[in-house]
Amino acid sequence: MQKASKVLEGRRVRIYPNVKQKQYLQFNIFANIKMWNALLGQVYQPIADLDEIQKLPRNKRSKEIYKYIERLPYEERKDLFKSLTKITTKSIYDSDKTVFASGYTLKDGDTMNYVYTQRTLQTAINNHFKNPKHFGIPRFKTTKFVNNQGSYTTAAKVCGIKEDGVHIKLGKFPKFKLGLVKMVNHYPSDGRLYKVTITHEPSDKWFISFVFEQDKHTVNRPKTGLSTGIDLNVTKDSHIVLDNGKAYQLPYDKIRKLERKIEKENVKRSRKYEQWKREVANIEADNATALTPKHVPTLSERSNYQKNRIKIAKLHSQIKNIKQYYIKTTCSEIANNYDVVVMEDLNVSGMTKNHNMARAITRANFREIRDTLTYMMDWADKQIVFINRWSPTSKKCNQCGYIKQDLSLDDREWDCPSCHVHHIRDVNAAKNIHDEGMELLKKMSSNCKKCGRKRTVITKDTAWTCTKCNAKNK
Ligand SMILES: [Zn+2]
Ligand SMILES: [Zn+2]
Repeated sequence: MQKASKVLEGRRVRIYPNVKQKQYLQFNIFANIKMWNALLGQVYQPIADLDEIQKLPRNKRSKEIYKYIERLPYEERKDLFKSLTKITTKSIYDSDKTVFASGYTLKDGDTMNYVYTQRTLQTAINNHFKNPKHFGIPRFKTTKFVNNQGSYTTAAKVCGIKEDGVHIKLGKFPKFKLGLVKMVNHYPSDGRLYKVTITHEPSDKWFISFVFEQDKHTVNRPKTGLSTGIDLNVTKDSHIVLDNGKAYQLPYDKIRKLERKIEKENVKRSRKYEQWKREVANIEADNATALTPKHVPTLSERSNYQKNRIKIAKLHSQIKNIKQYYIKTTCSEIANNYDVVVMEDLNVSGMTKNHNMARAITRANFREIRDTLTYMMDWADKQIVFINRWSPTSKKCNQCGYIKQDLSLDDREWDCPSCHVHHIRDVNAAKNIHDEGMELLKKMSSNCKKCGRKRTVITKDTAWTCTKCNAKNK
């Protein structure tokens, strides 16, 4: 366990592995999935051995196994998954003799990777028993996309950032030297490294994420004594609106432009795909009669197709980056300027059911804004308040409290029939959100009974968990 006085911080930076390093990292991603499937295979073995499963064709078995386990009573299911704790990853990689295309066997992989694989599987199982409706039983993973994307985690004790800050050592391997992997300058930190995750994105970019333990957070946000309310909106000209009228806007035009490009490239890709399929069909038809059969090209050998795929993935990641930059900078600015921020606890999944708004809302990434702002405020010892999402914040006049029932979604501005004040819809809503949040803050504000830190995330629930010492408060 980490000491309560320390904080954990994450960093994600891009790395530039060379060809040989790429091959090895890719192998580890492959090995991670293989290990997951091997562990899960052993856990599910008693079910797979049943006669009713054995009589099925091979490719139908895993589906039936899932169905069978999901029907098992709670206690029996729990007993089945208990067997995972008795399996060691060493027994698997020692006995597995599969030689991968790269020439490696499971034994050549980063063994700390396997430890994390088992841990992740255990977490998946725990999650399932905590909330079976939301988390199904763990399933086997496909290795279909392993050359294009994936990730694996390894322990920090076998890794280390060099003093120059731009090279990282990744693991210790008995058979050969991986060498140092080049990365863009990482954020300066003198803290202890916890764990390291290597990610390969479909756009063929590699990233590395570390978790650091530090004495205090690297970002300093001084107290200002101010508070604000935030209205999240999906109209074109305003996305995040503060109660003082300041609005932040996602660059929709840029995103639309990229989306149109993606649509165009998708047409090209499907054309290339059809072309490949026709060719395969032709070669296979010829091979049926030919004495020396011709090679049937796989999709990964079609360089034009792959180029196209990467191009599309890059466009997608550009959109993601634009959004992330917007969310991070906006939230950071708000967290710098205010000590208390009030937001509506929006039900995103409920809102996306409304089809007209679905696209705009998912694009707006409400949940991400909410989560980002929450951790930023919490880290800075500031407070974020979530008010009830059913409050009539848009329809209520902030001056006199009159509720205008017939206010429609198209009314961006309105005059209060009672006190005749002119309102801009979102600003008025943000003001109401602020007022309601400050009331709630007064009522729910308290200090942790264990470490004395004030409550930073305020909801209408009286029970809360301290983000510093993890103590449960009521
Ligand atoms: Zn009024
Ligand atoms: Zn505490």
